[in-house]
Amino acid sequence: MANKLKYFIGNWKMYGSPKSLNVLLRVNRFLSKNRNIRKNTKIIFCVPYTLINNFSKKIQNKLVKIGAQNCHHEEKFAAHTGSINAIMVKKSGANFIILGHSDNRNEGDTNFIINKKIASAIKQNLNVIFCIGENAKEKKAKRTLAVLKKQIKESLYKKFKNKKIIIAYEPVWSIGTGKTPKLHDLKNIVSFIKSEYKKIYKNENTPVLLYGGSVNAKNVTLFSTIKEIDGFLIGGASKSSKNFIDIIKNYYR
Ligand code: PEP
Repeated sequence: MANKLKYFIGNWKMYGSPKSLNVLLRVNRFLSKNRNIRKNTKIIFCVPYTLINNFSKKIQNKLVKIGAQNCHHEEKFAAHTGSINAIMVKKSGANFIILGHSDNRNEGDTNFIINKKIASAIKQNLNVIFCIGENAKEKKAKRTLAVLKKQIKESLYKKFKNKKIIIAYEPVWSIGTGKTPKLHDLKNIVSFIKSEYKKIYKNENTPVLLYGGSVNAKNVTLFSTIKEIDGFLIGGASKSSKNFIDIIKNYYR
């Protein structure tokens, strides 16, 4: 089953300066002019920590929302030089947070650590964009479903409020490479993830499931044929308002 609301979430990674606020303002202008798109669409920009507070003040009462890209797993204030916890993310003005991104898994985040991060983020009432995905080696070994199952099982607990969790399926081999999954494979994987999620959250709402990995204005028209996909996590193309808006326009075309 698909959700009515569609999400377009930008992940700026380690890019952006105070001037980049213009990207958000342009996308916001586009949304406010397009009532039909606006009523079914949620747009979130996950920006670097350094921009969250400034941007969240400037976009108060606007349609686009702000998210963070990670946090430390320790939920209390503690001696972790250079780190930020979920309390700090929330207090700086973000309402969403990406957790489990493959960039952070590559830097040492395990399913167990991601589980702790999700728990602390939910405690702060943050909406979690929980990233999962297989790497090229795992895909080649036909271990995709096993990997996804383990990532879901080890990081999501039944006690987490499921309304606060958005799953983003991001095959690692697709991120920033221009390669994307075959539609048939993607459709099967999306159904598999939804059914695994439902095993944890029995009888509850259908999960919100995004696809991420080299999404652009061209391939989004193909992805839009898979109705079970509830939106997209967009890296490279979210840094330009034109590219981002073109993705949204083409999705609804
Ligand atoms: C990402 O980093 O989450 C991502 C999807 O990147 P890209 O769109 O550039 O592949």
